[in-house]
Amino acid sequence: MDRLFLRKTSLVDYPSKVAAVLFFAGCNLRCPWCQNRELVLPDLLVGRTDLLSIDEVECYLVKRRSVLGGVVLSGGEPTLRADLGRIVKRLKALGFPVKLDTNGMNPGLLEGLFSQEETRPDYIALDLKLPPKRYGELSVRGLSEGSVDTQGEAGEALKESAALIRSSGIAHEFRSLALPEAYLKPEEICAMAAMVDDAPWYFRVFRAGNCLNPLWNTLEAPDPKAAAALARKACEADKRGIGA
Ligand code: SF4
Repeated sequence: MDRLFLRKTSLVDYPSKVAAVLFFAGCNLRCPWCQNRELVLPDLLVGRTDLLSIDEVECYLVKRRSVLGGVVLSGGEPTLRADLGRIVKRLKALGFPVKLDTNGMNPGLLEGLFSQEETRPDYIALDLKLPPKRYGELSVRGLSEGSVDTQGEAGEALKESAALIRSSGIAHEFRSLALPEAYLKPEEICAMAAMVDDAPWYFRVFRAGNCLNPLWNTLEAPDPKAAAALARKACEADKRGIGA
């Protein structure tokens, strides 16, 4: 699916900037709490008339250049697009700072993007969903019958992406979801802390509603105060060098 959703204006997706957001269809993970069902399962987009080509998006961006301070590439998972570098290059050539939101499953593509000035994003947000050793539970490969991610490839890809981002010199942030404690234990959040550096690490609280796995719609959201305490604990663990 080469076509894109466009959110014309956002005040919250790019720090300190008014930005347009491009949503890429398709994802190589299947987080059960995901609220982007249509982006993750592109067959659901068949027949939609509000999708745009990159040329159409570019026309819009040029017209709105005076009010937009940047462009966010989000998803789904943007790094599934083999031509992502070309898209970043086009947007930067138009004068837009580019932010990339990624799940970190494609470190090879990230390395390629980072290697040239014209394809380097100006800001990156990396999602940390679970400790690396549990990523097999989320990967498409891990979920396919007879194709279990026994080698922990998804977790290794995440660690590699986190390391690349930390050493890239590109402004970045980490993002996590505070999940019900029965699913993600406080000590596991401490294990995730090993992948962050001094950049901001933001926690949002899980909410039921339109989860990819309908069973998750029956789960209660964690108490926001408890989630904030977890985030603090994770950051303290990070400073003490705890984690796997
Ligand atoms: S990485 Fe997970 S939450 Fe993000 S779009 Fe894919 S399935 Fe949804």
